[in-house]
Amino acid sequence: MSWEENVRKAVPYVAGEQPNKPGMIKLNTNECPYPPAPGVQRALAQMDYEALRLYPDPDTGVLTDALAEYYHVSPKQVFVGVGSDDVLSMAFMTFFNGGKPILFPDVTYSFYDVWANLHGIPYRTCALDEDWHIRPEDYRQPNGGVIFPNPNAPTGLLESLETVEEIIGANRDSVVIVDEAYIDFGGISALPLTEKYDNLLVVQTFSKSRAMAGLRIGLCVGSEKLIGYLNDVKFSFNSYTMNLPSQILGAEAVRDDAYFRAVTGKIIATRERVKGELKELGFTFPDSKANFIFASHETIPAGEIFRALREADIYVRYWNKPRISDFLRITVGTDREMDRLVAFLRDYTAARG
Ligand code: PMP
Repeated sequence: MSWEENVRKAVPYVAGEQPNKPGMIKLNTNECPYPPAPGVQRALAQMDYEALRLYPDPDTGVLTDALAEYYHVSPKQVFVGVGSDDVLSMAFMTFFNGGKPILFPDVTYSFYDVWANLHGIPYRTCALDEDWHIRPEDYRQPNGGVIFPNPNAPTGLLESLETVEEIIGANRDSVVIVDEAYIDFGGISALPLTEKYDNLLVVQTFSKSRAMAGLRIGLCVGSEKLIGYLNDVKFSFNSYTMNLPSQILGAEAVRDDAYFRAVTGKIIATRERVKGELKELGFTFPDSKANFIFASHETIPAGEIFRALREADIYVRYWNKPRISDFLRITVGTDREMDRLVAFLRDYTAARG
């Protein structure tokens, strides 16, 4: 027998590339094009480097308290992790532990099936309708849990709070996870519903709207009972998931709501302007409420546009996968970055006739 027979075999998630070329335009991983809040820079400059000698607070008190205050919930209803990927993976491990398949959309964040496979969780996907919307009636079948992003990724489409609540209400015997990675760009959060539904977990991230992808900060809010179970698993796994700088700087970011609103407002304005310009160039897309646009051209295959953009050092995301191979996912950058993207696409589509 070979030792390899005892190895856990996993098919990993493929993250967007992180090139670092001077002058490039990076619109491929939905990062924020603006810096974090100014208070974060000050706190970073004032950070006591000697404190790095010690383990960080395993209960992540400063950050959890800041978030609890911001969202008007008890600190016992908040859990943070190393990006929302960490929070989600932990939540899969904790809550999706029955024999029945968990449910999620067929076109969605492509980490869900990776975690399901890693943790040995059976799953079933539910097809989005022809307009890329979730059909709530699909989530009325027996299941071991439900997860979906709102807005969905990579479509950017937002479901109404009524639809979200309909799905939660129909699944009182399962944990329902709403992945709100992109909720701050014009969506209405399901977070207040955690008061009403003890089986609801709302997950968010600092990677997009708070411009801190490099620090890896994710969070979730749920009933004290849910968060208690999550902590039991976390503390059986790794007590110190979140490092000290992330805890301090994350808390600092939460305290500056004016900056947060200004940045998300700018991104929303840029997104709406670029939608009009892309339409003029022959692109169509679901009406995104996220910080990206999922666009398809009426005549030119997406893979070709992707490669042409890449050669011009403009990076967007493209998946050669069923259902979505005609689309590019374009992150909303600064106005200048988007001007350059649109200018390139104007010339390119004109040259292609
Ligand atoms: N959920 C969705 C839907 C995402 O697109 C992403 C970003 N890849 C994440 C969660 C994870 O983001 P992070 O780990 O940076 O918080």
